[in-house]
Amino acid sequence: MTSLKSLATPIRYVKGVGEEKSKLFNKVGINTLYDLFWHFPSYYEDRTHIIPIAQTSPGKRQVIQGKVLLIDKVKSGKSLSIFKVPVKDKSGIIYAIWYNQDYITKLLKKDQEVVLSGKIEMRFREKQILVDDFEILNGKEDALNLKRIVPFYPLTEGISQRVIRRIMKVNLDKNHPHFTEHLPLSIRERYSLIPFRQALINIHFPKDFSYQRRAYRRLVFDELFLLQVALALKRRDYKKEEGIKFKVENNLVRDFLDSLPFSLTSSQRKVINEILEDMASSQPMNRLLQGDVGSGKTVVALTSLLAAIGSGYQAALMAPTEILAQQHYLRMKEFLSSLNVQPFLLISELQQKEKERIKNEIKGGTVKLVIGTHALIQKEVQFHKLGIVVIDEQHRFGVMQRATLRSKGKCPDVLVMTATPIPRTLALTCYGDLDVSVIDELPPGRKSVITRWISENKRRWVYQFVSSQIKEGKQAYFVYPLIEESEEINLRAAEDMVGRLRKDIFSQFKVELLHGRMRREEKEFIMKQFSQGKIDIMVCTTVIEVGIDVPNATIMVIENAERFGMAQLHQLRGRVGRGGEQSYCFLLTGNKISEEAVRRMKVMCKTNDGFQIAEEDLKLRGPGQFFGTRQWGELDLKIANLLRDQRMLNLARREAFNLVREDPLLYNHPLLKKAIKMRFPYQWELAKVG
Ligand code: ADP
Ligand code: MG
Repeated sequence: MTSLKSLATPIRYVKGVGEEKSKLFNKVGINTLYDLFWHFPSYYEDRTHIIPIAQTSPGKRQVIQGKVLLIDKVKSGKSLSIFKVPVKDKSGIIYAIWYNQDYITKLLKKDQEVVLSGKIEMRFREKQILVDDFEILNGKEDALNLKRIVPFYPLTEGISQRVIRRIMKVNLDKNHPHFTEHLPLSIRERYSLIPFRQALINIHFPKDFSYQRRAYRRLVFDELFLLQVALALKRRDYKKEEGIKFKVENNLVRDFLDSLPFSLTSSQRKVINEILEDMASSQPMNRLLQGDVGSGKTVVALTSLLAAIGSGYQAALMAPTEILAQQHYLRMKEFLSSLNVQPFLLISELQQKEKERIKNEIKGGTVKLVIGTHALIQKEVQFHKLGIVVIDEQHRFGVMQRATLRSKGKCPDVLVMTATPIPRTLALTCYGDLDVSVIDELPPGRKSVITRWISENKRRWVYQFVSSQIKEGKQAYFVYPLIEESEEINLRAAEDMVGRLRKDIFSQFKVELLHGRMRREEKEFIMKQFSQGKIDIMVCTTVIEVGIDVPNATIMVIENAERFGMAQLHQLRGRVGRGGEQSYCFLLTGNKISEEAVRRMKVMCKTNDGFQIAEEDLKLRGPGQFFGTRQWGELDLKIANLLRDQRMLNLARREAFNLVREDPLLYNHPLLKKAIKMRFPYQWELAKVG
């Protein structure tokens, strides 16, 4: 890496830029010389082959070289001006054509040697080339735009490819002698990585495509490695803290596991062991539990909560929505009925007086297990002796919220759960400071849900199918997405729909509505009735996304399915297929939906596997949108792609963690330290190494 000082040069003072262009660069996030060098081409065009004019073929895009025979005037029409110049090489003559680019007349002179690229055409028995790029050869400078593999940069509006190529080349030439190597030689040798200087030059102006590939490989590894070293440093820091040593083999845990009406899957047993091992050790747990919908995360979460309670601590579970918190609460109450533990619910819609009472008891320590929403992280919620925090649906909460809840105890253990599982190394990177456990099997006897995408004009068919199933004793969900901004309007739409379903379509069945605005007792009542089979069809606004567990409900109808993301659809579908019976999911959409929505529907019909769906989703939306800015915001990769480059990510991670284990202060790697600081300042800040 060249000296830090010159790389930090503001783009304005970089050679060839100046005040006006610097503003355009700033707009695309290029603020320094460093940013400029890390602005990589998005593709290349091979313009190395010069074709003799006589051998050019009409219809093809080709590159020729020749001498300008004469300069003619521009011919102007109403909307089009044409500039036409004859160019000659040993084999023949071709006419170079520029449309509406009158300034070219000022650049070209008679007898100049030029290289032209463009589409070859035959017109009026005359061979023409419609020039899209050209180069005047004056012997002094390298041809940047032709006669080589030419880089194309992601568009910076107002700055042409020609200009950015020139700026890039001039500054690379000026600085590259100072580029130093920051990767240890042993690592470079192990993976046959070319030197940094060579890589940076060849990613912009590759000698040939094999150089480009090697440059690319080196820089991808580089980026992932620097990131992983930062993560390894951060992790090492975190592990130094003193946490709680729980007595995990307590009676409460034992009684709970004995009371389960089923035996745990081996995946569940494996992750419970990982978690309890963490809890028993003095290092604070910070673990991500990944498992598909229906894989049985609740039991795992409860085991860890009880491990803490049985050791004399308080435990908290945070969920993203009130209905979900309520669901957890109801299910935990059921699970715990035979044990002497009473869960409490803390959500903002409780009566003020009741909230106060619960908060007081949390503070006093009589509440052992509290389940809640964001209400839990408010300032006035104080714990007596908080030992563990479980957070459901991790991706909905940011790093900060996690930290806030954590700060309510003295180094409590933290377990976060997600039903949007992603490949392991990816998870370790995206949730940098977390260890990862995975439940990778479903309880036995589950049939995969049959999913059908149905467009509006076949709606009747779905109604008939639902009727026939209900007659056989099954139950169904109808889900409506939030369509309007206003909850008021949504509610009315859902109410209208319930009215219609009741009156016209399912008049012989019991249809009820469940929505976020209902009073708590009302919600509890309806959920209970539904689980007892006293309601045939439950119509819900989207808020039930997760949590409801009624094995006899085997049909899920999702209205306006095109408005949901894949993760959400997968969650919703996870509400059926919970018993041994065949379940069905119908995705109802308008007749005309976007191409992307079509792809989503197709993926949903093809697979029930949450890992696959998450991966498709990542591909469709890119990591930025997938994780949301809260998780991802600061992680801006310039060349590596976490999905495409997973193999490289694994290698880089292993090397990075080995290196930090051997040299935790990067004492022997000062240049590496500098490189990380430049490339990942935010992660570096978090890692806090001297
Ligand atoms: P998740 O939260 O991972 O989506 P749940 O914890 O809600 O899944 O579990 C789904 C259903 O499977 C629940 O009804 C639960 O009681 C049941 N279940 C969990 N573990 C097992 C198991 N090992 N064998 C049979 N059923 C199980
Ligand atoms: Mg769950």
